[in-house]
Amino acid sequence: MDESARVQVERPTAVPVKMQAVAPGVHRYRDGLVNWYTIEDEGAISLVDTGWPRSWDRIEGGLREIGRRPSDVTAILLTHGHGDHLGAAERARQETGAPVRCHREEVARVGGKRRGGSSLALVPGLVPQLWRPASLRFVLHATAQGFLTPRWVKEVSPFETGDELDVPGRPRVLFTPGHTEGHASFLLPGGVLLTGDALVTVDPVTNRPGPCLPHDAVNVDSERARESLSVLEEVEAQTLLPGHGEPWTQGLKKAVERARASASASASA
Ligand SMILES: [Zn+2]
Repeated sequence: MDESARVQVERPTAVPVKMQAVAPGVHRYRDGLVNWYTIEDEGAISLVDTGWPRSWDRIEGGLREIGRRPSDVTAILLTHGHGDHLGAAERARQETGAPVRCHREEVARVGGKRRGGSSLALVPGLVPQLWRPASLRFVLHATAQGFLTPRWVKEVSPFETGDELDVPGRPRVLFTPGHTEGHASFLLPGGVLLTGDALVTVDPVTNRPGPCLPHDAVNVDSERARESLSVLEEVEAQTLLPGHGEPWTQGLKKAVERARASASASASA
């Protein structure tokens, strides 16, 4: 095997997880090319997104790093039902006994019952992008992490737009569809917003840094995703914690402004 082939083959255990305290009680875990988060409140944990299908061992390790155990997790919240976010949710549900929750409009996808909701449905959109090193890297990494064979969640408890969830961190639900039909974002009382893939700080398809929407190739409805930016724009939050990329601490309004500018730049390119 030559050197270039060697770097592309990643064993699940070889993925480094970088943990970072990002807000009071909130930790970010960069699990390869995606982020998941823990929100801690009086020793109990909300897990926000669950990485890849093969991420469970890393989630367990991440909990240990903050002195917690799987039994401390009392809620598993999903921004949306793509394989890099719901990945280990079913395993996490079984290991922790905590309910898996997502927006009502996302329940079918998370349960594997939505037509066109399989990981394979994303492939035709991604194939024309594979000339980009970033896209190829994402696809290889995703495949090694079990993206194409997700474990759907057997029991899902829905929440509604505007709900304030009675779980650690007391997040409020914002409905931010477009990337998927039922995508949700979570606003914490301290002005911290977890945006999943409604607004990211690196596009996993192009590797372009800075606040932006994910590439059209991976959105169910990009027009709707752009409309959802208006929902985020109204939010009083200084810190944005995205599904992909680094935290952004310069306020939501500026992040949305940048995302809009980057969308029109790529449309005219
Ligand atoms: Zn994603």
